[in-house]
Amino acid sequence: TEFLTLRPRATPPDHPATRLDNYWLPFTPNRDFKREPRLFSRASGMYYFDPQGRPVIDGASGLFATAAGHARTEIADAVHRQLSELDFTPSFYRSHPLAFEAASRIAGLLPTGLDRVFFVNSGSEAVDSAMKIALAYHRARGEGRRTLFVSRERAYHGVNFGGVALSGLVNNRRAFANAGPDAVHMRHTWLAQNAFSRGQPEHGADLADDLLRLIELHGAETIAAVFVEPIAGSTGVLVPPKGYLERLRAICDRHGLLLVFDEVICGFGRTGKAFAAQSFGVRPDIITMAKAITNGAQPMGAVAVDRRIHDAVIDAAPDDAIEFFHGYTWSAHPAACAACIASLDIYERENLFARGEALAPIFETRLHALRDLPVVADIRNYGLLAGIDLKPADKPGQRGYAVQKALFDAGLHLKTTGDAAILAPALVAQPAHLDEIFDVLRRVLARQS
Ligand code: PLP
Repeated sequence: TEFLTLRPRATPPDHPATRLDNYWLPFTPNRDFKREPRLFSRASGMYYFDPQGRPVIDGASGLFATAAGHARTEIADAVHRQLSELDFTPSFYRSHPLAFEAASRIAGLLPTGLDRVFFVNSGSEAVDSAMKIALAYHRARGEGRRTLFVSRERAYHGVNFGGVALSGLVNNRRAFANAGPDAVHMRHTWLAQNAFSRGQPEHGADLADDLLRLIELHGAETIAAVFVEPIAGSTGVLVPPKGYLERLRAICDRHGLLLVFDEVICGFGRTGKAFAAQSFGVRPDIITMAKAITNGAQPMGAVAVDRRIHDAVIDAAPDDAIEFFHGYTWSAHPAACAACIASLDIYERENLFARGEALAPIFETRLHALRDLPVVADIRNYGLLAGIDLKPADKPGQRGYAVQKALFDAGLHLKTTGDAAILAPALVAQPAHLDEIFDVLRRVLARQS
């Protein structure tokens, strides 16, 4: 497999560009992958196609990104048009009209007042930018001692140094320990007594009181913000227990802490509303987003900030001075803004958030029908997002890794994290697509013993 016909049309098989060793894949066992690469070379609607043209149904919206399905021509055309017309503008001291339009369109989807939008290029950048905004806000108000962050075990907030500090995953932290901001962690919300619950579990709202313990230990006056994924997505879909987010909100209010929802996965209809903040009826101070913001077609992320936080930072600086010393060369890139607007147009025109919400009960029924399989240890779901815990094999993660490969070979793409299989079909899925996804899943899981 040293030389491969990865792109048979474009690259001769013996061309050095097709060597496998130059590309270092992220979050992948590189040696195993390169022994037996599993590649996609085309996508359309609910399907990927491998280089031989074999269809693989997409049960994960790629990686929680392609909410409107793959290769939407409206988005491709908008990006092409934009690049031909205005390919790049600096985002410092300059901008372009689509940046303002994209920000206004996103603001229109958010809870009232959460309407100041800072653009970045990924979920990780959104998280680190949100951390800096929280620090800048407290400092602007004369509370510069608030530098500690609170997050949770089993949290995933991306891979930049801020997000790694917030992360509650030992593997993501181990090699980079003690580099970056200070963060302390509440317990996660998985409880055995909630196993196989549908939607929000009954038990565990009191786990929010971990925040009170951390406040008692560190002092509220040292804490800047609390970061949570409303549903912890990539670590297995941990749905917040009833009342849990409300309790976090109340504690934050009482102690002057900002509450940040990391909606990189939950945003743009995954939970049945535009944002999980609306699904759960809890309003955070800041929301981070990425992935489906462009239907996956361009790298982009954003931080939506409460107006009063934005104003505190802006108003603390003199009129002709930079207020916030942060930003990226590709913040609000014209092609990303074009892709974002075209994606939001599709979401709106096709009423996709409501469509996803309407499909969720069918998804839930088909999902929980897997419960009888001996390898299934737990199932959790909300909206079009689900986690299935598989009973571990000899080593933790071994089962999930094997299942992920077997599913690809059987014609289904989804994400596994450790021994959890995670489903997030596109909001455009038809019930027949769900049938196909769950049929393949059942067949492959039934072979696991
Ligand atoms: N935050 C959450 C909740 C995520 O799920 C992810 C990615 O899955 C990120 C942040 C990081 O996003 P990115 O991979 O775009 O940097």
